[in-house]
Amino acid sequence: MLPVDEITKLCYDHFRNLPKRGKPELGREWTLLAAVVEVRQKPKEKIEMKVVSLGTGTKCIGRAAMSPKGDILNDSHAEVIARRGCVRYLTEQLRLAVSGDKGSVFCSSEEMGKWKVQPEVSFVFFTSHTPCGDASIIPMVGSPSQVCPPVRPEGAEDKGSSAPKTALKRRAEEPEDQASKRPRPEGEGHQDLGRPDKEMKTGSPPQPEANQPSEDPCKPSDGEAHTGQSGDAEEQQAQDIHRTGAKCVPGETSDPKEPGAGYHSTGVLRVKPGRGQPTLSLSCSDKMARWTVLGLQGALLSHYLKEPIYFRAVVTGKCPYSQCAMQRALCKRVSQVTDLPAAFRVHTPELLQSSLEFSHSQPQTQHSHHSSKGRVSPCGAAISWCAVPEQPLDVTANGYKQGMTKKALGTPQARSLISKVELFHAFQTLVTSTPNTHLPASLRDKELQTYWDYKQAAGAYQQAWQQLRVQAFPSWPRSPRELLEFR
Ligand SMILES: [Zn+2]
Repeated sequence: MLPVDEITKLCYDHFRNLPKRGKPELGREWTLLAAVVEVRQKPKEKIEMKVVSLGTGTKCIGRAAMSPKGDILNDSHAEVIARRGCVRYLTEQLRLAVSGDKGSVFCSSEEMGKWKVQPEVSFVFFTSHTPCGDASIIPMVGSPSQVCPPVRPEGAEDKGSSAPKTALKRRAEEPEDQASKRPRPEGEGHQDLGRPDKEMKTGSPPQPEANQPSEDPCKPSDGEAHTGQSGDAEEQQAQDIHRTGAKCVPGETSDPKEPGAGYHSTGVLRVKPGRGQPTLSLSCSDKMARWTVLGLQGALLSHYLKEPIYFRAVVTGKCPYSQCAMQRALCKRVSQVTDLPAAFRVHTPELLQSSLEFSHSQPQTQHSHHSSKGRVSPCGAAISWCAVPEQPLDVTANGYKQGMTKKALGTPQARSLISKVELFHAFQTLVTSTPNTHLPASLRDKELQTYWDYKQAAGAYQQAWQQLRVQAFPSWPRSPRELLEFR
């Protein structure tokens, strides 16, 4: 069994030990954290774990700001940053493997040019919060709960104060137009379950304690402790739900926006809110559901891999959380997908929750906030760190390296190392360093030039994506090709 709190602590500690750049201002700004933890477990040996990628961030840019050069990060939600950092890490590990370095996480497979993750290694995805979108639509069942007790903020004294106990307030009783006019920090509401910010504190569902997802009131398998009703039944019974700021994509059943529990449709694809304009970025729940079938490695690395890399588990920090909403969002929606190409499958990760809360979460920040500090707001920067020898740290704001002058935007210096174009260049370096005889078949004797070309040439991956789209996500918006034709 995975040591859930140990994994969580590892991620929080790793964040704490990073330099200050890009971190939220204590007591005023909050952020979200996600990470990928590499787990090594040989039979009868002690489990070894290390963070190989970490991301923070709450923002997403609108359609108009997207770049055809692939040089801007469209989506800077922590989960997305953490996955992209992991792709950067894996690209470096493949480069090591190709050059014969035995320290790589990859070992050769029986197929020429294809590699696989060493058998004792697995990857766990950590997120400090429930992912935005479908997983954040959580029934509020039972008695009003209190906000998570405070945790010691980074570098601060623990004053030993207790959590404020506040009454459940139902935002659902407000008319939608009024709610939507309310000013929100930066016009974004990534911290789902907490939009607008005050209600975050007041309406948490009962919090499962450490490693006890069975306490979740809507977990279908939990027949003993509760009523034995299915998750759906519980959802119908709940008087209200936590909400997501992510909007249904065209073609999906739109939200009924009825008061209380009837506000949202569940199980549908959603796009993230941006700064007042629509984005093309799917919610983290949707992207994570996609990883459940396609793997976390993306199209490019799949050229080099014998099989996709799936997350063994998703660990969520202490926050409003529902096991059944997570199951619905990440697993149930894709569970029926069949006819996948060889090596692809529906891989349901273990869904676990920790008892430890992130000290820079929105509730913790509100708790330690002083009115003199200005209003509590999401941190505008996104931090990426990954386990690579050169420039592991990459801090961005608005999709470009933080601190860039307007004049520098568009230059290579302004690019994030996890932007599409930089990950593509790292991949091309891998291809160039691979001896011709050791190239995967999908890349041999091909005239591939653009990012689009290389992605399309990943045949099995594209087939799997096609099946997933047709069977589970027909409304998934396609990225415009003109945004992917850079070199
Ligand atoms: Zn998100």
